[in-house]
Amino acid sequence: MVVQKIKSLTLGVDLGGTKLNVGLVDAAGRLLSVHKSMINISKEPETVIADISAGVEVCLSKTGQEAKALGIGVAAQVDQKGVVRGSPNLGWRNVPLKKKLEKQLGLPVFVTNDVRAATWGEWRYGSGRGVDDLAVLFVGTGVGGGIITGGKLLTGCTNSGGELGHITIVFDGRKCRCPNNGCLEAYAGGWAIAERAQETIRTLSNKGRRLLALAGSINRVTAVTVSQAYREGDLLARLLVEETGQYLAAGVVSIVNAFNPCVLVLGGGVIEGIPELIQMVREFTRNMALEASVEELKIVKAALGVDAVVIGAAALAQNLVDKAP
Ligand SMILES: [Zn+2]
Repeated sequence: MVVQKIKSLTLGVDLGGTKLNVGLVDAAGRLLSVHKSMINISKEPETVIADISAGVEVCLSKTGQEAKALGIGVAAQVDQKGVVRGSPNLGWRNVPLKKKLEKQLGLPVFVTNDVRAATWGEWRYGSGRGVDDLAVLFVGTGVGGGIITGGKLLTGCTNSGGELGHITIVFDGRKCRCPNNGCLEAYAGGWAIAERAQETIRTLSNKGRRLLALAGSINRVTAVTVSQAYREGDLLARLLVEETGQYLAAGVVSIVNAFNPCVLVLGGGVIEGIPELIQMVREFTRNMALEASVEELKIVKAALGVDAVVIGAAALAQNLVDKAP
């Protein structure tokens, strides 16, 4: 059978600390094929590149198609030249990923941060489609996001713009995983929800029975345990979720006051697990932000779910190829 070649296909890659997702995406943001795998346990750049290359091969051979470029979102700080400056999850420092992948694949490659790729995906094909002033906030284990202002993605001076998880919401507050204290992530990120839950159970042990029963021990209480107990109507879980809603809203108020987006998209594992947080954030934000900042504001749920990084990275590759001379 002769497969008709589709024009304008790009590959998108989501490279996390342990998992790798590769997808072939068309110009309308549709996933034509996906290949999910674990990366080589050594995490050495050369072996991870071989894993990516194998994923690309599977996606292309399954569909019989060709791709014109590849975009990759990495859980890391990435500079303008496609060098991974630092990735605690992969243990990489100064890895010239763009150069290495281009050599391996013979395709133009665009490397970016995973959250920025997901932001781009939500902007092009998700809940922020067609919006020129957009803020996207992903609340997962960590908290990150991106800002589109006047139809352009904000990158900043050294390509690290949009670190929305590290907005200070409590001066001298909880220790963050960055050098600062009191960041939004240190209260609303999955790891911080787990820490807050564990501390609360230690001080209010009689109220933490349901959380303890679900998790087995204090140290095993996670944000997922909190969301399970919340579903069951547990009072301590409800308190933790309501506080999380307030902390999130405090961050969202700063974001909307600073950038005045028309739409703010909320996504990530914590939001997927406890979608009620969106309504809480809407109400707090409406009351606490400047009136002019929220006049037109809509706060909505992210649309692309677990494929946001793959679709966004592929769309970013598409965009940069289109712009190339
Ligand atoms: Zn921080």
